[in-house]
Amino acid sequence: MGASNNQPLLSVRGTTRVVGVFGWPVAHSLSPPMHNAAFAALAMDWIYLPFPVRPEDLGRAVQSLSALGIVGVNLTIPHKERVLPFLDEITEEARLIGAVNTVHCVEGRLIGDNTDGRGFYEPLRVSGIPVHGQSVVVFGAGGAARAVVFQLVRQGARVLLVNRTRERAERLAQDVYRAGFPGECVRVIALEDTGALVRAIHNAMLLVHTTRAGMHPDSDALPPIPLEALHRDLLVYDLVYNPMDTRLLQEARRRGCAVLTGVQMLVYQGAIAFQRWTGQWPPTPIMEQTVLQMLGQPMSGQEEEGGSAAAR
Ligand code: NAP
Repeated sequence: MGASNNQPLLSVRGTTRVVGVFGWPVAHSLSPPMHNAAFAALAMDWIYLPFPVRPEDLGRAVQSLSALGIVGVNLTIPHKERVLPFLDEITEEARLIGAVNTVHCVEGRLIGDNTDGRGFYEPLRVSGIPVHGQSVVVFGAGGAARAVVFQLVRQGARVLLVNRTRERAERLAQDVYRAGFPGECVRVIALEDTGALVRAIHNAMLLVHTTRAGMHPDSDALPPIPLEALHRDLLVYDLVYNPMDTRLLQEARRRGCAVLTGVQMLVYQGAIAFQRWTGQWPPTPIMEQTVLQMLGQPMSGQEEEGGSAAAR
């Protein structure tokens, strides 16, 4: 008998395969309900558990995965970078980004991957939004921005990068260059250079916000983006997913922009990890519905697979 949506735990037994998430704290993670809803929908004998792992215990926890027969884990704050020395292998993508969000135990070996970049890109691909040869403005230069920028340059976009701390943006641009991409792939714009910033946004088809501005509980905060530059041909993609409808997205919609929310990236980065562990592609609309329920949001009506994820 497969697990039902309401009673996944009642069907845990000796054969159940285990995956999960290591975080500190981990109590607010949306990943356990999101993945367990997908396992239940597919009647799979799998379970996804939250593991509150203190930073000082990370090495022991990761190295216990194989011994416990755990198939893999996601990593969240503060473990994504600290986990690197404890792994046997990391994918090219995780190496470039410098962080791991998914570990997979394969025949006793711990393989680290990073699904954030592909998770970010998938809603664009599904919506048929080409970035090749296009100008994209990226706000922020933290961990999420690294995944986004490497994915965008790999897809042939030209990135204009803006960050509160300019040196961090310069470092990311340098890392992209050192990884073998042409220097003109990423150009850094100073936050104070409003003229250049407004011009960059005018010429862009996509603006990606990757900073923490506007995240719960500071959901009234707006990132330092010149709103007057937003235009009808611009797609605004906010990686913040709590709240889903950020102030930035509200302002963008008011100016006629199409928008993508961080919930879509959250679902797809999870779906790619799910596929790596199980070999199956999960039902992403069910994962999205679960996340929206957890966030107390109504369904957007945009989440059918193969349909457009971008909405005005
Ligand atoms: P991070 O590594 O700590 O980087 C934070 C970034 O935000 C830096 O660029 C930082 O600028 C900037 N920043 C922070 N507060 C700011 C403020 N008040 N004004 C302007 N800039 C500010 O964090 P991260 O892991 O990249 O995460 C960033 C955001 O992405 C979070 O909201 C996170 O939830 C979201 N995210 C979403 C997904 C998803 O699946 N949807 C996945 C990963 C991350 P400085 O360099 O100047 O400090």
